[in-house]
Amino acid sequence: MSEELRTSLSNVGYIGAGVLFILSLAGLSRQETARRGNALGIAGMIIALLSTALRAEFSGYLPLMLGLAPGALIGGILARRVQMTSMPQLVAILHSFVGAAAVLVGLATYLGHSKVPPGEQGIHLGEIYVGVCIGAITFTGSVIAFLKLQGTLSGRPLILPARHLLNLLLVAITVGVGIWFFRCSETGTGGLWPLVLAVSIAGILGAHSVMAIGGADMPVVVSMLNSYSGWAAAAAGFMLSNDLLIITGALVGSSGAILSLIMCRGMNRSLVSVILGGFGSGEGASASAGAGPQGEVRSIDVAGAAERLREARSIVIVPGYGLAVAQAQHALSEVVRALQSRGARVRFAIHPVAGRLPGHMNVLLAEADIPYDIVLEMDEINDDMPETDLVLVIGANDIVNPSAAEDPGSPIAGMPVIEVWKAGTVIVMKRGMASGYAGIENPLFFRPNTLLLFGDAKKTVEGLRNALSGE
Ligand code: NDP
Repeated sequence: MSEELRTSLSNVGYIGAGVLFILSLAGLSRQETARRGNALGIAGMIIALLSTALRAEFSGYLPLMLGLAPGALIGGILARRVQMTSMPQLVAILHSFVGAAAVLVGLATYLGHSKVPPGEQGIHLGEIYVGVCIGAITFTGSVIAFLKLQGTLSGRPLILPARHLLNLLLVAITVGVGIWFFRCSETGTGGLWPLVLAVSIAGILGAHSVMAIGGADMPVVVSMLNSYSGWAAAAAGFMLSNDLLIITGALVGSSGAILSLIMCRGMNRSLVSVILGGFGSGEGASASAGAGPQGEVRSIDVAGAAERLREARSIVIVPGYGLAVAQAQHALSEVVRALQSRGARVRFAIHPVAGRLPGHMNVLLAEADIPYDIVLEMDEINDDMPETDLVLVIGANDIVNPSAAEDPGSPIAGMPVIEVWKAGTVIVMKRGMASGYAGIENPLFFRPNTLLLFGDAKKTVEGLRNALSGE
């Protein structure tokens, strides 16, 4: 095949892959079309890989296979084994790979940059410098996010004194090192050391920004790092003059930024504060975290809870992370059917950050064939709480914590929550008195209209199903 034909076919492949990625994003934006969106994305990526391998300038199929085969095998095994509840960690570590790749591409491109025409060197050096800095921030930020989500590092924010000044200083040093880098690069590759120094400083900046973010804000961090990884990939695309990588990176970067914005709105946080790492999380905020609410806890057993459910006409179910851990969604679907057959109005209330990844609860409920029309967003159902007879909270904690609305000193103050305490009766299903992801006490458990049904959610939901269907 002639070189021209290979390049033309590859270009056509790139356009096709780009279109498939856009259609994939469109499909992923709705639950009903998400599966198709995923399939289109996979097809786009296969075409992208084949088109790249077809390019005229490409030679080296052996190194490609040596990298691709073990990578695909390890990735496939990890993705098959990972539990849904551990997805954020997997996503975070995958973002770190994109960041690391951008840094390595930058360093490699720099060492070979003498091939660039002299008139384009300034732009080329700029692409390299910005690319490695974004890559380094993404890499270290994602590694810290992975360690926090994995529980290896504490989820509590690290609030260093004068941390914003420190961040500003790091940015200023990076700019200064950039000038040094350009000066040294005027002749050959003498700017390698400033470049390595810039990678280290940007790495510290990335790690510090994510360390400063507290537990309940982590979902926004994950989606922000998703966005950063897109921009890092786009920067790598500029360095390699690869149009498809630029398009794909820009799509990931902008969709990640939009998701972050939606999540910030859902949690009443400012995007700037997340980017700057904990900006605005007042020092007093964590003070109330340890001072647990006082009061008496009233518990109920499965038979008692089934009795309350039988009496209720209007029921709202709030699923949380514990439902995913227990994998109780299938038994829950049978409970819903049993209640509906008795004439009760049953609906689900979904918080935007319930579980451990965006859309986590929607995926669980879809797995159990729970109809979409009874699954409502928090904003759609909060106003109905005072008219609701009974709320069943299953393995949720932070997303139903009244201190977010009532205690200005709480670390989650201002975050919209599902206002379950306004309902007639609240039954909270959990194993013990442990706190949620944010690590703070929940006064809901001590409210006079709250009853705790202790036990693993799978066992208790199955108990409810047996009690409700065995009559
Ligand atoms: P939480 O983590 O606040 O609470 C989950 C509760 O489930 C715990 O209190 C736990 O109590 C209970 N639980 C755990 N396992 C079981 C089980 N097997 N059976 C019954 N109960 C169980 O979850 P929420 O969904 O309420 O809130 C999500 C939190 O995660 C928020 O703080 C959010 O910011 C954060 N987050 C969300 C991400 C996202 O993208 N959605 C990403 C990263 C973090 P006990 O141990 O006593 O049973």
